[in-house]
Amino acid sequence: MTPLPNNIFTITSNNPGPTVAIFGGVHGNERAGILAIDALRETLAIDRGTVYLVYANPKAITANQRLLKQNLNRLFLRGNTVATYEEKRANELMDLLDTCDALLDLHSYNDVQENANIFAICEENCSSVAQALGIPFRISGFTATEAGGSDGYMYLNNKVGVCVELGSINLSESMSQEGVAIAQRFLQYLGCIEGNNIQPTSTQTALTANIMYKKQTDDFRFTQPFNTLNPVAKGTVIAIDGPTEIIADQNVYILFPRTQFAIGTEAFILVNAVNSHHTHA
Ligand SMILES: [Zn+2]
Repeated sequence: MTPLPNNIFTITSNNPGPTVAIFGGVHGNERAGILAIDALRETLAIDRGTVYLVYANPKAITANQRLLKQNLNRLFLRGNTVATYEEKRANELMDLLDTCDALLDLHSYNDVQENANIFAICEENCSSVAQALGIPFRISGFTATEAGGSDGYMYLNNKVGVCVELGSINLSESMSQEGVAIAQRFLQYLGCIEGNNIQPTSTQTALTANIMYKKQTDDFRFTQPFNTLNPVAKGTVIAIDGPTEIIADQNVYILFPRTQFAIGTEAFILVNAVNSHHTHA
């Protein structure tokens, strides 16, 4: 294992194979992925190719904050102004990703309650690898609804890009072990680790993001204490935003409901089954 500058660690093998990046800490307070990188640095051995283990946002990790100046996971877009710390880091990481065939980016999410729901965010070009990770849900459509994500950067370059949400932040210690296991399955599927031939499972539920709702007024409130991946039945009033009731126009799941945030920023995302019909309200 050879340390590189900038919190990037390289695991090599003696055989040709894919080049893979595993990110933790794109958001510095999401400890599950950071702890998974810590563990992988000590234990990971590969048979083929090269693996980069990356502490993605070191200053935010040190500060145990989501971000320093900007949300790094909206900055994986070429042509940013390289003005802030996170913009500079995004450019360094995009340079690294340009040498890679695949990315696994480990995150957690904020929930008031402890929430052990694990899911992948990726586009359908990655459905097979997502099904090989041993997790119940995969969600597509983020490249369009939330531009600038690391997995979307890989997708737009015709590569494998998978983000995995390892439950809520308050379960980070236990979820880091899930992160290590998921990383090993990812590397096994890609051929970096030999051994039991890992197969995609057909039991994974495929969902797609169709609405990312931004708060419009200071009078925004949810009608219930929603948690990520709660099912929401058609017709349910999800939230009240000033004069507007936001109603589920079909059976959906809610993701990332946020209560404390500024007008114009993301309040929640709605996802629905890939094959269900949707009519915009
Ligand atoms: Zn995150």
